[in-house]
Amino acid sequence: MDFTLTDEQKMIQKTVRDFVNKELKPLEQEVLKNEREGRPGISKEKVKELREKAKAIGFWGINTPEEYGGADLGPIMSVLIAMELGRTYVPFNFGGSADNILYLCNEEQKEKYLIPTINGERRSCFALTEPGAGSDARSIQMQAIKDGDHWVLNGEKVFITNGNEADFAMVFAVTDKEKGANGGVTCFLVDREMGWKSEYIYTMGEWGPATLVFDNVRVPEENILGELGQGFNLGMQWIGQGRYMIPAGAIGAAERLLQMAIDYSKTRVTFGKPIAERQAIQWMIADSAVEIEAAKWIVFKAAWMAENGMDARHQSSMAKLNGAIMANEVVDRVLQIHGGMGYTKELPIERWYRELRLYRIFEGTDEIQRRTIARNLLKGHAKVGELL
Ligand SMILES: Cc1cc2nc3c(=O)[nH]c(=O)nc-3n(C[C@H](O)[C@H](O)[C@H](O)COP(=O)(O)OP(=O)(O)OC[C@H]3O[C@@H](n4cnc5c(N)ncnc54)[C@H](O)[C@@H]3O)c2cc1C
Repeated sequence: MDFTLTDEQKMIQKTVRDFVNKELKPLEQEVLKNEREGRPGISKEKVKELREKAKAIGFWGINTPEEYGGADLGPIMSVLIAMELGRTYVPFNFGGSADNILYLCNEEQKEKYLIPTINGERRSCFALTEPGAGSDARSIQMQAIKDGDHWVLNGEKVFITNGNEADFAMVFAVTDKEKGANGGVTCFLVDREMGWKSEYIYTMGEWGPATLVFDNVRVPEENILGELGQGFNLGMQWIGQGRYMIPAGAIGAAERLLQMAIDYSKTRVTFGKPIAERQAIQWMIADSAVEIEAAKWIVFKAAWMAENGMDARHQSSMAKLNGAIMANEVVDRVLQIHGGMGYTKELPIERWYRELRLYRIFEGTDEIQRRTIARNLLKGHAKVGELL
């Protein structure tokens, strides 16, 4: 067994860490101020400038195949990079990527949707959740009815990330009611110009998803992504990737937060001694360090399995469940260690507290991950005590 990173992995990790330290951390105070005053954390122009700098050092299209000009670094490197970017709350990611299922576009669709998305000229959103179907995504109701060489879409989607900003949506609709999720759901590429409307949803985080409303939106037959009736599988494929990437980001945030708590505890004096000397504080630090370390290796194993072509779904559910809970435990302890200061907007802890709370909800709640893990074990798809 070998836990060491390769020289290439170490080099990538260091380069991203340097980028975060040099380019992103200096923007943190400005991000807090902008958000406090109701503006986006960083402007579009600044994101563009940062992406150009990153591109110049090779960070563009992290997961994008080389034929589209990407670096195609694979799951392990992607996890390492997400951990490093997670160390700052500056809302930034490297450009040059597209949703994994957009690679299933046919040649014509690639020109209209995939390539402009990779190049940052168009923005996509993934529209599966509905008011009556979140965890239970199989019971979506949005209707698509065939009319000549078009499909007519009616219904509502909610909580769609980037839904207010996107130029087009990957929309999941029922094309065969009887079959439903078993061959009766289809994914459509739907341009905003085709007529859907969006409305921003305010959340406890610093960014919000949107509600999308479809009222007789006519979509040409050629805008079906993949096969008619195979949309539900595409939806699950899209969600699958996030299950180890989300906790990877959470690990970076938890490490940074824990370091803040360590530094603060050494300088904050109460009753004549730094609080770092109190067992109550030391135990919070120790528990956090152990939980972060455990989360890290579950995530790395999921990424390693994905990289080696294994079925990583069970491990990824464990990574998501454990990583999301861990980050929420850690941020809560770090806030506690900072006392009243932790609760203020002078420090980013309360911001992270609000942001990390989402990790237990989106792309499969804690309860749904537990349901999946338990079902895999009960049905024998995964076995207790099994090492690879
Ligand atoms: C900020 C944000 C961004 C999002 N982005 C997107 C996006 O881009 N695209 C998209 O399609 N969706 C998106 N979502 C939706 C998200 O995936 C759903 O909110 C999530 O899957 C939960 O669904 P729900 O909100 O309908 O909760 P529900 O499914 O109604 O669940 C309510 C509660 O019941 C629990 N529960 C449900 N079923 C069971 C069960 N069988 N056993 C035990 N407990 C259960 C849940 O865990 C939860 O605690 C986003 C959500 C948020 C908040």
